[in-house]
Amino acid sequence: MHEKLVIPKGLLDSTSQRIAVLGGGFAGIASLVSLVEEGCFEPVCFEKTDNFGGTWCYREKATFGVASIMPSTVINHSKEIGALSNFPPRKEYNNFMKHEELYKYITEFAKSKDVLKHIRFNSEVVEVKRSDDYEETGKWVVSVRNTISGIIDSDVYDGVLVCVGHMNRPKMPSYPGQDLYKGEIMHTHTLRTVESFKDKTVVVVGMGCSGLDAAVEISNVAKHVYLSTRSGAHVMKRVGFKGYPYDYILLRPYLYRLIDIFPVDFVSWLFESLYLDAQFDHRLYTVVPDHHVLSKDPIINDHIGSKLLAGQITQKYDIERFTEDGVIFKGDHAATKAGAVIIATGYTWKFPFLEEGILNVDNDIINLYKCMFPPHLPHSTLAIIGFFLPFGPGFPAAELQCRWATQVLAGKCSLPSEKEMMVDIQDRYQINSSRYTPSEKNSIRVDYIQFCDDLASQFGAKPSLLKLFFTDFSLFLTLVFGPNVSYRYRLQGPHSWGGARDAIMTVKQRILYPMTKRDSETVNDSFLKRVFTKVAASILF
Ligand SMILES: Cc1cc2nc3c(=O)[nH]c(=O)nc-3n(C[C@H](O)[C@H](O)[C@H](O)COP(=O)(O)OP(=O)(O)OC[C@H]3O[C@@H](n4cnc5c(N)ncnc54)[C@H](O)[C@@H]3O)c2cc1C
Repeated sequence: MHEKLVIPKGLLDSTSQRIAVLGGGFAGIASLVSLVEEGCFEPVCFEKTDNFGGTWCYREKATFGVASIMPSTVINHSKEIGALSNFPPRKEYNNFMKHEELYKYITEFAKSKDVLKHIRFNSEVVEVKRSDDYEETGKWVVSVRNTISGIIDSDVYDGVLVCVGHMNRPKMPSYPGQDLYKGEIMHTHTLRTVESFKDKTVVVVGMGCSGLDAAVEISNVAKHVYLSTRSGAHVMKRVGFKGYPYDYILLRPYLYRLIDIFPVDFVSWLFESLYLDAQFDHRLYTVVPDHHVLSKDPIINDHIGSKLLAGQITQKYDIERFTEDGVIFKGDHAATKAGAVIIATGYTWKFPFLEEGILNVDNDIINLYKCMFPPHLPHSTLAIIGFFLPFGPGFPAAELQCRWATQVLAGKCSLPSEKEMMVDIQDRYQINSSRYTPSEKNSIRVDYIQFCDDLASQFGAKPSLLKLFFTDFSLFLTLVFGPNVSYRYRLQGPHSWGGARDAIMTVKQRILYPMTKRDSETVNDSFLKRVFTKVAASILF
């Protein structure tokens, strides 16, 4: 075991280090931006498809190993809460952007930073291994297959950032009798349009975000939809208190940090009782969730409640077995006829190109420090970006990972000893295992605000609240009680941004603009109304 990671001497001195960025999705683009911003790197990004944007580049056909969305996919987090730290979305953009609007935002970001020129398309990374002189230099050999010509080229890089995503390998459960079934079975990964389900009875398996999106969408045309779930779910709506985005209301440090003070189950109970159940009491579901809301991935859907009330969707327990023309649900005696079964049970993860021994998994523990760095490697020249499951938006945390990895590659930050990193990894796993329902991904579940603060503090970008308390009290109040926007991580530290304070203080204006097209002040309640609604709400609820 090494006690201190050694930054290769060459890396510290060089003015132009070659970094391979694997994948041209959001994380790949954010990595390129960070590397270019730092100024001492020569990044090359390999993207296996013919376009950038990853998940958010809509494709008519699904490809194994590339994340996919439906034509109707709308992002689950609002534009400001998921914004990039020095690139606020245009005020005209909708709060919950449809995929093409989000793609436009990512494109504008990439173009404004002039990083698209670093991407090599149709280039699939097939192998990443340690170079012959790795022990001394920390360099990597990256082999890339041209997907058009089939030719494989290898080259040596000073560092590697793996940004290939982890929601692209469909998980397909198998059920007794499945071979007998004569209807159609497909995973949401390949689901695009729903016309083919017109007048059919359809079973959707899984009550995560994709399952609910599929069930709701299909129920608009189908004869009936059955939503099969093993453990149920607490569902949040995008529309929060008074029509504001739910995450603008909830993702605030003073609220989110309640889980650092009180037991998670207690905070879950508060959240369910005071907020979620007021919208749709979880006891009204046929399959009552067997867990608290903060013990599973957040589930966002706006329409499931009304679809259940309208009888267009019926909730059912897990499938016990298939028959020739349908399924038998647990607890049912009779079979339910169904013309199609949509599997929405999520994704497994794999980085198939990584040389053996780089990413180790011990008894379900994925050994990655802060979900990024393999702790046992003697050099911190390889990091995985975006490989985490946050209770919140993914973009800002992934962007912070890019910024930190860049600082590490530049030799401006070093990692702790292997022993310390292993303790951190195991602590996260133990805490998550006792909190979340069992899953192969429990090592990579993170609490959004805590995780972002943790990443930012690694390279000096976490704002100093104590200093702001004395120097800028209104900003201090906004940072503690306002929505957690990523501009806060540009107030100080490397590549801080002069516009960060203003961006933080004008969040509400950009949220209101696409709806009101007016100055946000016109939406503020009078003092009297605020007091009245507070009193009335406390009496009613
Ligand atoms: C249906 C769906 C809905 C989602 N909704 C949200 C949401 O609302 N909010 C949110 O925060 N996140 C959401 N996500 C998660 C989403 O993955 C992230 O938003 C984000 O796009 C991840 O970016 P990424 O760059 O890490 O991965 P990806 O977007 O998956 O991009 C990875 C890129 O790497 C390329 N690639 C893969 N393998 C190789 C290889 N071997 N060589 C070269 N290139 C390769 C792929 O072609 C792809 O372009 C959703 C995911 C899905 C599938």
